[in-house]
Amino acid sequence: MTGIKSPSEPVHIVGAGLAGSEAAWQVAQAGVPVVLHEMRPVRMTEAHRTEGLAELVCSNSFRSDDATNNAVGLLHAEMRRLSSLIMRCADANQVPAGGALAVDRDGFSAAVTKALQDHPLIDISRAEIAGLPPADWRNVIVATGPLTSAPLADAIRKLTDENALAFFDAIAPIVHKDSIDMSVAWFQSRYDKVGPGGTGADYINCPMTKEQYDGFVAALVSGEKTDFKEWETNTPYFDGCLPIEVMAERGPETLRHGPMKPVGLTNPHDPTVKAYAIVQLRQDNNLGTLYNIVGFQTKLKHGAQQRVFRSIPGLENAEFARLGGLHRNTFLNSPKLLDVQLRLRADLRLRFAGQMTGCEGYVESASVGLMAGLYAAADARAMALTPPPATTALGSLLGHITGGHIETIDAGPRSFQPMNINFGLFPPLASPPTKKPDGTRLRGNEKTVAKKQAISARALADLDRWIVDSLRVQAAA
Ligand SMILES: Cc1cc2nc3c(=O)[nH]c(=O)nc-3n(C[C@H](O)[C@H](O)[C@H](O)COP(=O)(O)OP(=O)(O)OC[C@H]3O[C@@H](n4cnc5c(N)ncnc54)[C@H](O)[C@@H]3O)c2cc1C
Repeated sequence: MTGIKSPSEPVHIVGAGLAGSEAAWQVAQAGVPVVLHEMRPVRMTEAHRTEGLAELVCSNSFRSDDATNNAVGLLHAEMRRLSSLIMRCADANQVPAGGALAVDRDGFSAAVTKALQDHPLIDISRAEIAGLPPADWRNVIVATGPLTSAPLADAIRKLTDENALAFFDAIAPIVHKDSIDMSVAWFQSRYDKVGPGGTGADYINCPMTKEQYDGFVAALVSGEKTDFKEWETNTPYFDGCLPIEVMAERGPETLRHGPMKPVGLTNPHDPTVKAYAIVQLRQDNNLGTLYNIVGFQTKLKHGAQQRVFRSIPGLENAEFARLGGLHRNTFLNSPKLLDVQLRLRADLRLRFAGQMTGCEGYVESASVGLMAGLYAAADARAMALTPPPATTALGSLLGHITGGHIETIDAGPRSFQPMNINFGLFPPLASPPTKKPDGTRLRGNEKTVAKKQAISARALADLDRWIVDSLRVQAAA
């Protein structure tokens, strides 16, 4: 607890984007006053165009609304159960988009703005917080997003003693481990090195012949790339990590002497043949369900990434938990810097929400805002709130942010990178389904579908129990 006990003392929320707006709603609905600080239109970001709260800066999609088979659809369902303002306004401003939830962006933002403006416990202040929040703000949520203004980002960087907070962010794709063909790939660390915290067999290796390598390099070089936006040109690359296609353009051998070097590894499926090049994947979460492709940060368009990366032997059927990408981003090294309640260990009065915490996407940002709001309201009312179960979408996303990610085993750039919600973040089922309701055996893809459905059903049942056990107790207090 942070020593915030006066119920009339407001929660200060900095940034009224997806996360800050949802957080403000949750705090105010719990009966605690809020001051919501938003710098637009006094100062704009590089991507926002309006002064509306919860402006969608790019696509108008909240992605799949299928709560049974899709992890983000499940997150929608959980947020609706917690009376999310963002979901209520999205539902009310839906436009046709098949199984996805897409919204009329202006109608959506106007609805969020009106709900917050009309709330008797919310005061909206249009001003930039150009440094650390004043010391007498004792319960603060910072939700200033990937385009956090420079003075605040600099102040947080100094406070956290990190050497970078905002960078040109090149992210590598992440693959679901159970979609990797282990009859082609194998586990081994280079030279079987154990390293700190390793086992000597920490990487999954995918071998390439010369023909496969040459074809792969050619496909990288010719693949369609996303363009730099004008405002992105001033931001440095994160730790100098270059996109893989940029390395490939420097010469056909560059990758073979860089991330794809074939040394220190023996293919147990074919021990006498030396691979010409090797792609390595590194475990990305504690559960061991997700692996990132080492050194494969990329600016290729998503379609090109799927096509080119599925040409890697062993990854023909790869399912991607996240594709690579490149844009300016501001986010904390949360597993190190935040506690389980999203508070900065270095200054417990500051709680973080939204994309700054290392989640990725509109829905994920809003969901972390929702949880930060519940925690801040509980603090203001001097009540304890247990985290949502790890089996829920909310719990698994928070778990990833505040502790589920593992640091790289070897030296290298900071490895924690923003992540969308996906089924790889959930704890595995104790007994995965093997049979259909009629008693016949599940085959092939049916097993994957049944597994997702069982994870979703478990999540909603566990969330309902948590709501009864924790939140209703608070409501009654
Ligand atoms: C260019 C770009 C495109 C993106 N496209 C998508 C997409 O298509 N789909 C998707 O799901 N996700 C997308 N994202 C990722 C992300 O989900 C969104 O950025 C999302 O809006 C993050 O929510 P947030 O609440 O954390 O931040 P934001 O929604 O950006 O809200 C932060 C708010 O804080 C304000 N602010 C910043 N600094 C200060 C300050 N010092 N004082 C006061 N106010 C401040 C800003 O004006 C803003 O209103 C994109 C990100 C970027 C950068």
